[in-house]
Amino acid sequence: MRTILTPKMEHALNKQVNAELWSAYLYLSMSYNMKAKGWIGISKWFYAQAQEEFTHAKHIMDYIVSVDGKVNLMPIEEVQLSWNSPKDAFENTLMHEKIVTEKFHELMDLAIELKDYASQAMIRCFIKEQVEEEDTARGYLQILKLIDGEKTALYLFDKELAARETNMKMDSHKELLC
Ligand code: MG
Repeated sequence: MRTILTPKMEHALNKQVNAELWSAYLYLSMSYNMKAKGWIGISKWFYAQAQEEFTHAKHIMDYIVSVDGKVNLMPIEEVQLSWNSPKDAFENTLMHEKIVTEKFHELMDLAIELKDYASQAMIRCFIKEQVEEEDTARGYLQILKLIDGEKTALYLFDKELAARETNMKMDSHKELLC
């Protein structure tokens, strides 16, 4: 009887754990850069986003162990330290989430090639999650483009993001039940 997790898939999943932790680093960096610039609500939103990325990494690590694989935590590369504006940060967020989506598509290609049905089911949850991640980032970027640097509107946008933090955490919990 063949084992569920092949070494090839185990390595690819560990690389994805590293990518999720790198994402957490990226959003933490954005969070503290926005905080330093006085955007408290936006900072809170990116902090919640970083926490969500950490739960993504945990979800994959839990899966690896549950199919008798080994978790291999690799070094996390440096991230950007500063963004010119909230719009700049959200542009980077959307670009980054598109790259993450591509990584999950490649993981799914591999799982299909290896006939690894358990990993396919797990990866499918993340592909669904990525649709939401891109949609959220695109939505906020659209608002910031409409605001076009207008200070009062930016202030209100910052307040709005501060209020949405709790809802986001609930959403991330729901995602883990997929
Ligand atoms: Mg993620």
